[in-house]
Amino acid sequence: MLVVKKFGGTSVANKERIYNVARRCIEEYQKGNDVVVVLSAMGKMTDELIELAKSVNPNPSKREMDMLFTTGEQTSVALMAMAMAALGVPAISLNAFQVAMHTTSNYGNARLKRIDTERIRHELESRKIVIVTGFQGINKYDDYTTLGRGGSDTTAVALAAALRADKCEIYTDVDGVYTADPRIVKTAKKLDEITYDEMLDLATLGAGVLHNRSVEMAKKYGVQLVVRSSLTSEEGTVVKEDVKVERMLVSGVAVDKSAERISVVGLADKPGTAFRLFDALAKANINVDMILQSVGRDNSKDITFTVDGNCGEEALKVIEDNKTRLNYQHVEIEKNVCKVSVVGAGMMSNPGVAAKMFECLYNEHINIKMISTSEIRVTVLIDVNEAERAANAIHDIFGLAE
Ligand code: ASP
Ligand code: MG
Repeated sequence: MLVVKKFGGTSVANKERIYNVARRCIEEYQKGNDVVVVLSAMGKMTDELIELAKSVNPNPSKREMDMLFTTGEQTSVALMAMAMAALGVPAISLNAFQVAMHTTSNYGNARLKRIDTERIRHELESRKIVIVTGFQGINKYDDYTTLGRGGSDTTAVALAAALRADKCEIYTDVDGVYTADPRIVKTAKKLDEITYDEMLDLATLGAGVLHNRSVEMAKKYGVQLVVRSSLTSEEGTVVKEDVKVERMLVSGVAVDKSAERISVVGLADKPGTAFRLFDALAKANINVDMILQSVGRDNSKDITFTVDGNCGEEALKVIEDNKTRLNYQHVEIEKNVCKVSVVGAGMMSNPGVAAKMFECLYNEHINIKMISTSEIRVTVLIDVNEAERAANAIHDIFGLAE
């Protein structure tokens, strides 16, 4: 059997934890299995590298940032191979170049295109544990790239798909996927199983356990994932296509505090307005999420949308720089907002989920600023100060509490 195991930063934060991971991997290896280990950088090292870079140059280029980032994962894989060797087990560390993990060319947010598997296969055949750097890749210029924050999960799933692994385990500092973030909702409980689609929505909406692209990729290639803790032997949560348990109406509540809202007021009410606005944002690589357009009156309309926390100001600047072309009266930004969502495959066949959520917010006297829905999700934008109260009340009303 071939097993891919991925360990996050907290799982390899210090010497003791590195040895803990080494022992867990060796246990698997000693069952006669082939073991490929994917690691993140130790602890908060990636954040520290950002701080370090900014202390040298407040505006470092993305290429040089990636060059710097890759040292984080390179440190942890080398140390892991040393720990395994000290425990008497043959292991080898490989970085993105040595494996050859090919990505698109964009620095900081590249996508994996193709992984060469010969080197890994060769090392596995000589009965070594193979330890691969997460998060990084190489592009057509032979430069390092990174896959976006949290990207090591995606490296693991991509490797599992490329190697046709029998198992892909994502080890983290929580023991699985919960009905809500346990730091926000005390009564949240661990889910035994969840579908790819639900997980994708939860991951995208700030559940934080998995990189959303890793879930996308797992679904595409049918890689069944297990999310579990590196510090306990708890079973964890299985992420797969179909779940066998009777579906609850909703599976989880997610809170995303990184949202910001932008309103462009007084746009022309004619064809091409929305195109010009979102085209300008897309060209600046800004991801837009919820979009709301008002009814046009007196030849004028407003468009409101949300963007991820870090790029509200950037979006504002793009709109202001294009003022003549976009032709609007004024633009506003609101930063103290957050997204609260309920996600559940069960709502596809059960009407009334949105109504129940809105009623719950009404009972809590919480005002809804925007709404968006998909087949398996209802999202509202509310004041960030009301996030915890809303999440707890919604979690309760859908009977998710322990
Ligand atoms: N070290 C990277 C980060 O902190 C990648 C990862 O941990 O998945 O974002
Ligand atoms: Mg992570």
